[in-house]
Parts: sequence; structure tokens; C-alpha cells
Amino acid sequence: MESIKKIYLIGRGPSSSHTMGPEKASKNFLSKYPQASHFQVELYGSLALTGKGHMTDVVIKEVLGENTEIFFLPLVEPSYHPNGMKFMAYFGAELIGEWKVYSVGGGELKEEGEERKGYKAPVYPHHYMEDILVYCKQEQISLVEYVDRYESSDLNAYLEEVLNAMEAAIYRGIATEGVLPGRLKIKRKAKTFYDKYLENHRFPTILYAYSLASSEENASGGTIVTAPTCGSCGVLPAVLFGMHYHHHSPRENVVNALKIAGLVGNLVKHNASISGAEVGCQGEVGVACSMAAAAAAYLKGGNNSVIEYAAEIALEHHLGMTCDPIDGMVQIPCIERNALSAQYAINASEYALMTDGSHHITLDSVIEVMKETGKDMHAKYRETSLGGLATVKRTKEPPKE
Ligand code: SF4
Repeated sequence: MESIKKIYLIGRGPSSSHTMGPEKASKNFLSKYPQASHFQVELYGSLALTGKGHMTDVVIKEVLGENTEIFFLPLVEPSYHPNGMKFMAYFGAELIGEWKVYSVGGGELKEEGEERKGYKAPVYPHHYMEDILVYCKQEQISLVEYVDRYESSDLNAYLEEVLNAMEAAIYRGIATEGVLPGRLKIKRKAKTFYDKYLENHRFPTILYAYSLASSEENASGGTIVTAPTCGSCGVLPAVLFGMHYHHHSPRENVVNALKIAGLVGNLVKHNASISGAEVGCQGEVGVACSMAAAAAAYLKGGNNSVIEYAAEIALEHHLGMTCDPIDGMVQIPCIERNALSAQYAINASEYALMTDGSHHITLDSVIEVMKETGKDMHAKYRETSLGGLATVKRTKEPPKE
């Protein structure tokens, strides 16, 4: 597996696969053909179906220029990954270069045929939690010590940067009112929830407020941290900063909790997928919840087995969760789902902490089941907005423009 730094990317929302990935691909392509007079970009599969709502075309044009032609081709369904793109560079009428690339989740790009598990710079020798736990037992080390043993010495500094970016998004979110971009005209709720927390001082209220703040910043195209994706960026920051400010977990422990959560996210990314277009929302909010549950179990003093159990519980009970965002925007069901999953992560950690950590189903098995479930999931529930909530008849129409 590669560094956990790859799980936490700081960038602009609303989508790691539909905004960050295409932005990165556009920048790469522009650097190869700076002499091009103009560009054409074809978007396939899920990128074509929900690209408008996720602002894929906007971000590509921001990089390649306003006269870039973008073609949405939803009927082209690449077998390598549903988020396919083809970039074409022209000098006058002459085609001077083209590049097919896939946005495979969490802002990462892969080229056609590239080994999905192959990483240019692997840092971990183990690929399964079971092997990691055995190794930690032999060496008598914690999961945090395991991460420290293999990552480079600049990890702590990077994770501080990540925490600062998460916190900044929360602060902006709880201070901002108004409506989110798009036709649905959804009212931002984070500030109202935070004001309620100031009155009632209840832990669930601050979890909801912080999660709403990050997710609403993401939906507005603000800067957030993928954890593991943009659409699921509300869960982990809510749990970490809820534990820090409400339960007074020291900041250095919160940095260590990011290591634990990153390890869990890394295992899913390596052995299954964190792309909603590939496995549905179980791979985004489900994984975020699993990461956050592991982090919370660590912050509450859980040992390695209890941490693994908390992560397993959280992912197991998100199995089968579909991705069907209304209007292709990362708003409904995404924002509310993040908030409730933050609370679920706490519940999973508390449940695991009441045990000695022994249980029947391992995290590795659930990751495998999640991958299989994603493969069996109908395409209309995998970030295409062709089914589920995205097509349900609404009882209340959004206000007219
Ligand atoms: S439903 Fe889940 S996977 Fe789909 S866009 Fe929303 S957060 Fe991402």
C-alpha cells in the first residue's frame, strides 16, 4: 500500500472523482501540450451522467480555457472504470495529442490497463488488516507505531496541515448562512446546529454541526480534505474535532487518530474501492464512517483489536448503500448522510469498546464483501443519478429560480 497521505488530499469540492481528478488530469494534459490552440474533452459513463451537477465541465474549462469543447457521452461505459475521460489537443485543425485517463476515486488518476493495486511508491509491506495485526502483536506495537514505522518523517507535519484544513472548513461552515449552489436551493444548516450546540452542549449536536459545516463547504466548492473523498468529507472531521473540543482529546492524539483512520481508508482503497461510481456510497460515506469509528475507538483508549472491530462494524452496516444524488449534486442525500454517519461512527466505537475486540467477521472480509456488493450493484445506483432518490417523485418542488 502507498502512503496514507494520498487518502487526505486538500483541495476544492464538490467531488474528488468528478472535480479533483478531472482538474488534475486537465493540468497534466495542459503541461504536455502547452502549444495547443484548443482542446476537446470527452466524458464517459458516470462523469457524463453527473458531471454537470459535480461541476466537472466548469473545472476542466477553468484549466484548459473557455473555448474547450466538452462532450458528455453517457452511453460510453468504459470497462476499466466508470469515470473515463479522453483529452484531445489541437493545433489549428491538426490533432497533436490525445490521452485516455480514469478518475478512480479520492482524486486519483489511472491510465487504461494500469494495475489498480500497483503503486509507484508503495510504503507498506502488508496489504490486509489481519497481517498488520499479527505483525503488531509480534512486535508489540500499536497501530500508530505501525504507521510511524513505515511512513516518512514528514508525516506528522503533513497531518497537521490536514487537520488545519479540516478545522478551517469547519470554522467557515459554522459561520456561513444562505443557500447552497444549484437548483435545489438547499438552506445551509451548520450555523443553526452550532448555535443549538452552544445552548445544549450535547455531543451529537456538535457532531452534526461540524459534519454539516464540512459538507456544506464541499457542496459550495470550498476547500476541504478528502476523507476518503470529497462527498464523504464531513464524517471524520466531525468526529475528530468533536472529540477534541467536546471531550478534550489532546491535539497530538487527534493527529494519531488521523493515522489510524488513514490506515483503514488505505486498506479499502487498495483492496476494494473508494469510488461511488464503482461501488456506490458504501465506498464513500461507508468508508468514512469506518475510518472515523477506528479513530474514535483509538481516542477512547481502544487497543488494536478494538480499533479493527470498530472499523469493521461501521463498514459492515453501510454495506449496500447506494449513490443516487439528486440532480447529480453532492447535496441530497450526501450532506445529511455524512452527519448521521458521524454519530454512527461514535456508536460503532462505543459498541466495540464494550468488548475485548474478538468478533466473527474481520474488516478484511467486509472490505471484500463491499467490493463484491459494489460489482453487483445496478449501474443506476452508482453515481449516475438514473435511479433511487435521484428519480423519485418529489412531494415538494424546489423554489423557482
Ligand atoms: S450519495 Fe454518497 S457516494 Fe454518492 S455523491 Fe453523495 S456522498 Fe458521494
